[in-house]
Amino acid sequence: MIDDTQEKISFSGTVISVQPRSNVWRYKLDNRTHSMTGYNIFISGETAGEQRNFAVAISEKQQMKMRFHIGDEISGTAWTKMYPKLEYADYYRAGALKKLQEAANVNSDAKEPWLDEAPELSVYDWRGCRMLDSKNWKGKCFACKWACMANVAIEYNWGVTQKFRFESFCYGPKNCALYKMGRPRAVPYKDMDSDYDTGWLDDICTERRGDDE
Ligand code: SF4
Repeated sequence: MIDDTQEKISFSGTVISVQPRSNVWRYKLDNRTHSMTGYNIFISGETAGEQRNFAVAISEKQQMKMRFHIGDEISGTAWTKMYPKLEYADYYRAGALKKLQEAANVNSDAKEPWLDEAPELSVYDWRGCRMLDSKNWKGKCFACKWACMANVAIEYNWGVTQKFRFESFCYGPKNCALYKMGRPRAVPYKDMDSDYDTGWLDDICTERRGDDE
């Protein structure tokens, strides 16, 4: 699971999405805990001599200082992943971050998807999230500040084995017209049939807010 060939890379390009970065811990249907760990900055640009789209994980402190936004031209350094199965972003441990040019037109009023500045992590934490269809995450929701691709650990054999995967979630208003939950998600446990997360955990995770919040 460990990739010990880590290397430091330089990157530059245009920000195409800023999303919260989180770790999720699942245990059967008894627990789905979301821990916010920073932001994933999705960039269309150049890294390690290649033109492509990629994601860089940054800390909350870095995002609050740099205030990256869709359309900004940015550059920096980062490291390839030591644990590829545990981390969705392509690179992490970012440094030397620079905003080369501010986005020309920021549409702060845009809704569905919401394109204004991503809030502090405590806002995401308070709001809680619902499962989001991965097709929506890749498509119509990708630029939304409420979209999230989480690093998920499933407690498969308590204290002995975990399984890992990535799952998409939405922290946005419950009445967003673009929202689709997608298929129920299997939560396996050793020597048992999988339980399925069919959405009622979403209700618990977002119980603090109403439909239009
Ligand atoms: S469904 Fe969620 S992520 Fe997608 S546009 Fe609506 S609020 Fe944003």
